[in-house]
This record gives sequence, structure tokens and C-alpha cells, in this order.
Amino acid sequence: MSADRRIVCVGAGFSGAVIAREFAEAGHRVLVIDERDHVAGNCHTERDAETGIMVHRYGPHIFHTDNREVWDYVNSHATFMPYVNRVKAVSGGRVYSLPINLHTINQLFGTAMNPAEARAFIAERSRQDIAEPQTFEEQALKFVGDEIYKAFFHGYTRKQWGVEPSDLPASILKRLPLRFTYDDNYFNHAFQGIPAEGYTALVASILDHEGIETRLGSRFEDLDEAPLHLFYSGPIDRYFGHRLGRLGYRTLDFKEIRSADDEGIGNAVLNYCDADVPWTRITDHKYFAPWSLDETRGSLQFREYSRACEAGDIPYYPIRLVSDKDLLGRYVALAEAERRVTFVGRLGTYRYLDMDVTIAEAMKAGRAARAALETGDLPRPFYESAA
Ligand code: UDP
Repeated sequence: MSADRRIVCVGAGFSGAVIAREFAEAGHRVLVIDERDHVAGNCHTERDAETGIMVHRYGPHIFHTDNREVWDYVNSHATFMPYVNRVKAVSGGRVYSLPINLHTINQLFGTAMNPAEARAFIAERSRQDIAEPQTFEEQALKFVGDEIYKAFFHGYTRKQWGVEPSDLPASILKRLPLRFTYDDNYFNHAFQGIPAEGYTALVASILDHEGIETRLGSRFEDLDEAPLHLFYSGPIDRYFGHRLGRLGYRTLDFKEIRSADDEGIGNAVLNYCDADVPWTRITDHKYFAPWSLDETRGSLQFREYSRACEAGDIPYYPIRLVSDKDLLGRYVALAEAERRVTFVGRLGTYRYLDMDVTIAEAMKAGRAARAALETGDLPRPFYESAA
């Protein structure tokens, strides 16, 4: 009978781990599979043996949230250390403060404006005639005007997404704040930090329950048991064997630079906004653990290059062009017809989710699915927040 069948989670990232834990604590048996040889998905971290630096293997991850429940949850599985992301940007051979704040504006225009002056100055330059910006470019022009757009957003965005900003949704730029003070915290959230022992230890702690079996190096396509219910956090188009075509994703290549110089680039993140520099940013990973700078040797930097994701590459960012959204709609229709599967996470729902939103959605999806199964209903096939 179905009672002895297991819940199966495909993907051992935050989505799969949080859902697995929810079911395990309710007395279910859960199998979590992942084709890679580690848990935590693209949040995976590992300590480099030579330098002692905790490396964010698939690019930098800074935990930031306003959601108290999510913050308490991750803090119950790891010791979080205070960390404030302060990003610098290179544009036209000069270094600027990011996100766009009073310092950036004064640096770019060679001024010494106060907040009120800068606000009026930007209002004059921003495109007030754009009522409802639809694209990234319209959003940027309305938000900051042409000079700032060209200096910081056009080249970087072109490199990061591989298309013109006029083809991208405005939502991508809405991730970034604009401030008329000298506050250069990259994020606006109440809680921010990085786990002292990295994200992989955090996810391993979530999975550490007697009801959960985690099987690494195991592909979804080779799954040989019929689940009570399946939670799928891989790419939604891959689940359906790409039968309607491939959704667009960006993948990243990292060029590692080891340096004996302890100071490295001098900061955790340096963005390169000009189109003629092929990488988007350099990250210097020792600075993601400012509490342990004395315990590491040298510096370990990664130049980050973005390109189209081909078959066999690791997908990082869903692009969500209009054509992708049409195709997604057709995959969602197929997903809705699946009876015992729920699609979750950044890849399962094809959305640009941060870690905290991924966890909040996994908590909700797990709880809702558990309640549904207990009453004999079928859980929702495609999890998407109402927002
Ligand atoms: N962005 C940009 N210039 C920058 C930083 C960001 O144009 O110096 C744009 C770019 O399109 C990027 C988006 O803003 O994809 C969101 O930036 P975020 O730093 O949130 O990107 P992530 O760290 O998730 O890659």
C-alpha cells in the first residue's frame, strides 16, 4: 500500500532538503537524490585545503531576508556570522561604490551633493515619461537616467544575460536599491549573514534526520522506485525530456586565480560594468568570511563569465524572455497534469529566486502537500507563491 512508499525529493538543495525535513519530522520516510557528489546545489561551499578559504563553488551566496521564520530556521541549523555585502564596481577605468547610492552619484558626476540635491539631480535626469516600465532598460532609465544606466547597467547586463536590456524584464533591476544616502549595504533586508561553516554543512544539517536517506551521484532519470509523492527541483523542461524545447538559462564559468598576496582584490566582490571586459565580476572568497581572515593564507579569486547554458551545462539563471515564458506556460500545463509531482525551487518553477524565498516556498509547499496527503488529496503540482 501507499503507506510504505517514500516521499522522493529530486535535488538536495534548499528546496529538497527543507521539504524532506518537513515530511521526515511528520513521520514519513524520505529519499533525497542528487546527481552531484555534494548536497546544497549551487549554494555548495567547500574549504580549500591550500589556503583554508571557504570557497563558494558556484558563485557567491549571501543570506539576506526579512522573513523571521526563515531566518530562525537557518539559524537552527548553522551558526550565522554577521556579514554585510559591500560591492564595488569598475566602470571606465574608475572604481565606484555600489549599489547606486549618494557616493556613486557624487563619484560619477564629480560632485559633492547632499541627499536632497542628489535626489533632485537624478529626478531631472530620470525618464519620468515612462509610466509603467516593462523592460530592464525602461526601468533603468526611469529609475536613474541615461548616464548611470550606461556606466553601471548596460554593459554588465548585456554580459550577464547575453541579450539587450531592452529585451529583459524590469523585475531583474528591481532587485537593486537606489539610495540617496551613503549606505552601501547591497541589500535592504533586516537579517544578513553567512554560515560560519558554509552552506553545505547547513543543508547537511537539515537533511540529518533518521527518516531521510540522501543518495548522491544519482540521477532522476534512473530513479527506480514509485514515490508516494515526488518533489522535483531540477529544471522543469528536463523533467519532460525537453519535449517542447529548451527553456533559456545562463550558466557561469569561473576562472580561478590563486595569489600569495593576502589582500587579493581587497574586497569580496568587484563588478566590471564595461562591455569590453569579458568577465562580469571578480570575487575574492576570503572576504566572505571576514571573521576568519587571520586563519587563511593568500587569496583565492574567481573571475566570473556568463554564457548561454547548453546541454550538459549547469543552469544558474532562468532568462525568462517572452519566448521562454510562452514555453514555460506550456510546460506548466504539462506539470498541472502530473498527478504525484510538485515542481519547486529556482529551476523547478523557472524563476529567479533568492535562497530565503526558496526556503519559504519549500516550507509552504511541504506543509501544504503534507496536509493534502493526510486528507487523501493530491498536493499542488506547481508551486508558485501568490506574490
Ligand atoms: N546589474 C548591473 N550592474 C551591476 C550589478 C547588477 O547591471 O553592477 C544588473 C544585472 O542585470 C544583474 C542584475 O542587476 O543581473 C541583478 O544583480 P544582482 O547583483 O542581484 O545579481 P546576482 O548576484 O543574483 O547575479
